[in-house]
Amino acid sequence: MTLLQSWVESANSADTDFPLNNLPYGAFSTGGPRRCGVAIGAQILDVTALEAAGILTLENGPLLQAGDWNAVMSAGPTVWDALRGWLQTALAAGSGQQANLAPHLVDQANAQMHLPITVAEYTDFYAGKNHAVNVGTMFRGAENALPANWLSIPIGYNGRASSVVVSGTDVVRPNGQLKAPDAELPRFAPSARFDLELEMGAIVGQPSEGMVSVQEADDMIFGYVLLNDWSARDIQAWEYQPLGPFQAKATATSISPWIVTKAALEPFRTSTPERERPLLAYLTEPGPMLYDIDLEVGLTPSGKGESIIARTNYNQMYYSAAQQLCHHTTSGCAMRVGDLLGSGTISGPSKDSRGSMLELSWGGKEPLTLDSGDSRSFLEDGDRLTLRGAALGDGYRVGFGECTGKVLPAKPVPDWAQ
Ligand code: CA
Repeated sequence: MTLLQSWVESANSADTDFPLNNLPYGAFSTGGPRRCGVAIGAQILDVTALEAAGILTLENGPLLQAGDWNAVMSAGPTVWDALRGWLQTALAAGSGQQANLAPHLVDQANAQMHLPITVAEYTDFYAGKNHAVNVGTMFRGAENALPANWLSIPIGYNGRASSVVVSGTDVVRPNGQLKAPDAELPRFAPSARFDLELEMGAIVGQPSEGMVSVQEADDMIFGYVLLNDWSARDIQAWEYQPLGPFQAKATATSISPWIVTKAALEPFRTSTPERERPLLAYLTEPGPMLYDIDLEVGLTPSGKGESIIARTNYNQMYYSAAQQLCHHTTSGCAMRVGDLLGSGTISGPSKDSRGSMLELSWGGKEPLTLDSGDSRSFLEDGDRLTLRGAALGDGYRVGFGECTGKVLPAKPVPDWAQ
């Protein structure tokens, strides 16, 4: 596959995240109601308007008038394929649709982005082995780093859909109950070890009842986004036993505004690594279910330039989203259209490929020096975190855009809470 040519000139570049090969789905507004849009080069194609005008017709439609993609997801893979096929033809160089579509292009610079879907429920996994070993070593020592179940189960916890926000949303440093290791008693205070987690999010586009296979799970996935699981390490260290993270992970979960579809990522499929312990049969993958997606994390201190603090790849995961989704259904747990699955933090084997400050600064023992000369163990107020990702093809990229958010100071702790 090479760069596909579009009549939208800005899409015909090796550098754009959004060539005709990609066509990710988002929700935007320009002062009025929310609309569904498709990114093409530096533009957004307003497909809500195209459907309303009768230029685009989908089976069992209208499906694009609510300003999110849930109705399209519910309609199923036949409609997903039909829509993508129509868009790739209509936006291709030489298309007879150019005159009909051109009036419905909006500059991305003039659009406000919103959550692309109504998130039904949110589950976060823990599928990066390097991350699990690093964190386990810090929390429990090298001898007990990897939990006994880790090589057999895609571990996860049920998060909160209400925590999910779109890229660009500021994040207020949480207050919470925390206890210093040498303190006798806990206290209620702002988190002093506020952190990011670099993850991918898989969006479930079809419902299930009862257990599904890994292949069926893969078929249910609509697409992927970048995801930052903001994490308060001091709250987490005190609260996490025995039921796992709770308030440490409930402040915010940022996702990138564009859903890159499974179809766009198809050329970049890759296999999970060699199994260190054989998986039970139900978790065995029938084919490659991970993706080769380059990822990076930028940290911008207030008023300073950005430093890239980590570079890694989604291919580092031990479990794919399809395996996670399959495992999620083993109990009979029903999955819904709009469920969001976090991959778990994506850390590579080297020090500069770690996807959290906890790992990058080794629990604060080895602070990072940024390009600006500032030092960081965890996030400071005013810091902006930006995740970026792209699958790299031959002369083109299938990009995710950015997932960004700025840390605002904690709210004052009221007298009655101290
Ligand atoms: Ca996480």
